[in-house]
Amino acid sequence: MTIDLFEPAEPAAAQRYVDVALPLPVRRAFTYALPSELASRVALGSRVAVPFSSRKLPGIVTRIDTTPAEGVSPRPIAGVLEDEPLFDPELLALLVEAADYYLHPIGEVLRAAAPALRAEAVRALRASGFLESATELPGARVATRSVLVVRLVPDAERPARLGPRQRQLLALLESRGEVTLEELADHLKEPRAIVRSLEQKGLVHTESREITADPFFRDPVASDAPPEPTSAQRAAIDALVGALRASQPATFLLHGVTGSGKTEVYLRAIAEARAQRKGALLLVPEIALTPQLVGRFRARFGDSIAVLHSALTEKERAVAWRALRSGAVTLAIGARSAIFAPVRDLGIIVVDEEHDPSYKQEEGFRYQARDLAILRAHRAGAVCVLGSATPSLESWSLAREGRHRLLTLDARPGARALPPVEIVDLARHAKGPSGDRRISAPLHRAIEQTLAAGDQAVLFLNRRGFSPSLRCEACGELETCPACSVPLTEHRRAGLVRCHYCDYAAPIGTTCRACGQPALEPLGLGTEKLEEVLAHTFAPARVARLDRDTATGASIEDVLDRVRRREIDLLVGTQMVTKGHDLPGVTLVGVILADQSLAFPDFRAAERTFQLLTQVAGRAGRGERPGRVIVQTYQPHHFAIRAAAKHDFLGFAESELEDRRELGYSPYGRLVAVRIDHGDPDRARAAAELIVAHARAHELSKSGRVEVLGPAPAPIERLRGRWRFRLMLRARERPPLRRVAQSVIARIDEGVLGARASVDVDPVSM
Ligand code: ADP
Ligand code: ZN
Repeated sequence: MTIDLFEPAEPAAAQRYVDVALPLPVRRAFTYALPSELASRVALGSRVAVPFSSRKLPGIVTRIDTTPAEGVSPRPIAGVLEDEPLFDPELLALLVEAADYYLHPIGEVLRAAAPALRAEAVRALRASGFLESATELPGARVATRSVLVVRLVPDAERPARLGPRQRQLLALLESRGEVTLEELADHLKEPRAIVRSLEQKGLVHTESREITADPFFRDPVASDAPPEPTSAQRAAIDALVGALRASQPATFLLHGVTGSGKTEVYLRAIAEARAQRKGALLLVPEIALTPQLVGRFRARFGDSIAVLHSALTEKERAVAWRALRSGAVTLAIGARSAIFAPVRDLGIIVVDEEHDPSYKQEEGFRYQARDLAILRAHRAGAVCVLGSATPSLESWSLAREGRHRLLTLDARPGARALPPVEIVDLARHAKGPSGDRRISAPLHRAIEQTLAAGDQAVLFLNRRGFSPSLRCEACGELETCPACSVPLTEHRRAGLVRCHYCDYAAPIGTTCRACGQPALEPLGLGTEKLEEVLAHTFAPARVARLDRDTATGASIEDVLDRVRRREIDLLVGTQMVTKGHDLPGVTLVGVILADQSLAFPDFRAAERTFQLLTQVAGRAGRGERPGRVIVQTYQPHHFAIRAAAKHDFLGFAESELEDRRELGYSPYGRLVAVRIDHGDPDRARAAAELIVAHARAHELSKSGRVEVLGPAPAPIERLRGRWRFRLMLRARERPPLRRVAQSVIARIDEGVLGARASVDVDPVSM
């Protein structure tokens, strides 16, 4: 590859021009002259360097042969950064359309979608002396790192006297063949010392090895024999294969209860796309939680899969990008942002767990990857499959209208039943023998029975930490974060109180900040405390915890592996335990407090609660033995909880859609949220009021076609030291809503009292 940034000559006679999108918060592209020397190397989607005021910036060519405005003579582009265009015309068109739909600056959209520049390009830009900051263009890091691999010395004589940890390490090596020092850290204390002692005895030897850092390809997987589809699976597969063969774009909603075998349907449909030499894209909610799913795809299709995840280095990402772009790899798996992966000749996009809130990007370029999947598939003439046990009401209503084709899997294969769900009213039930009222007598009994049968249980509590808050017994005040209007959570093991919103941390104290009395008492139950209570109550049961405090990358899978190997009896966890895992030994699921997610001031609270309960309940009884679920709640009659207990998605959806229709919320009303924040509370409010007044003055608001709601303080009024307000634009139709939103954006761009403001089209949370 060659990169040259040169000082341009005067434009020649038959001058051509291009539009370039720059990584700036500006809602348009800029026109530049295309020097004839570069013309052959520039195409739609090419990454080029251009002069912008006194610096040079990387940008993407979004149009070729544009005509500059009269009287303007654009400056020439300064160089071509990569020989291959980064985006093919189809993907570029999708991104341009997305920028328009989400009312977001095109340059920032393209930057969000593109991999970082290659090191050479960064160097060339720097050398030109114009590139301002390195942070704008993260440099490529090395794709490999070196690890210490430990192996058994074959046929070594084993001395009789070995310490327990030395024996543990040897046993591990016998079952695994080899382990890295890093992996050992999960099993042994001071692994390095133990390894060294065994090395001195001549029992193990170590070597340093360069590996790619990719945890998804760490262990080999055996290829699998596809199971014979059930008749419901067969019907779904036939419909998808039919659509693929017809080469007509179509969107399907695959509504399959938990454990009904949706993955097998995806695998077969993708196999058909591959047989037709077409590309496939699989989106999953959180790639870090899905190595098991990736394993199933590797078992079926081999390792020629691009797995896009956040642990990839920039260089690895660039390598994956090029492999897809060139067509060398035709299947990509990844979370939200993988919707922009440059898969060629796209035949199918699958969005697994399409209801999951993580598909919505909540910062910067705010997009909904599921909606972009539908759009992208449509533009590419591809099939789009949205799969879920608990479809979003948006997808469900489109399926009811016949705009998505509905495929249903309403049973688990092999006559495995959905688990019966028992609701326990926490207000009425006596506490169990543990003495903690949040483990009711029925739940306590069920855990005992599960343990006695040698089975496993999952206990779900959506709050990490020891106690979610600390209250002063003297004045009644909660300890709150100094920067946010959020209570601090006690993390006893770490000896810290933490803010779960800004990560502020301080040592656990006893003195109240408000009144100075030494009277702080922990309030409520978090996963850390639950783990402790369970370990104490059900000793010698083996208890593990899965939440953001314990789990980082590969260790999530390690915990799940230990559950699968039956090394854990009780698994405590947050939302992380609800996500799609197949844990065949789990026969009991306990939900500690089902009403937690109902408390959010958000019109989707009931939907989220129904989804969480259904998903976590779906972890029970996936193996040979039947499962059961116990749901503890203070609101035993809430319709979302009752519907989840009956596995009644249809009933839930009917009732919830009725409410939404009455209140004018999605999918009946269209929304644009505007969020405003400022370090000063009065200015924040004044700025919000300014924007509201501006929106209300619009003719479409005056005529009532667009409603302006607010301003109101955000549910978390103060975050990271900034005061937050929000307002909402609502309409039945999209075009008038867009026009008012565009007018609001223009007003924001003029500056509103120094406040920050952002616009969120189709907001998911409020
Ligand atoms: P879902 O994604 O719908 O929750 P999975 O795809 O994880 O369900 O499937 C649940 C279990 O059923 C898995 O262990 C899978 O291997 C198994 N399974 C899927 N299809 C079949 C089939 N046709 N016959 C037997 N077992 C199947
Ligand atoms: Zn905070």
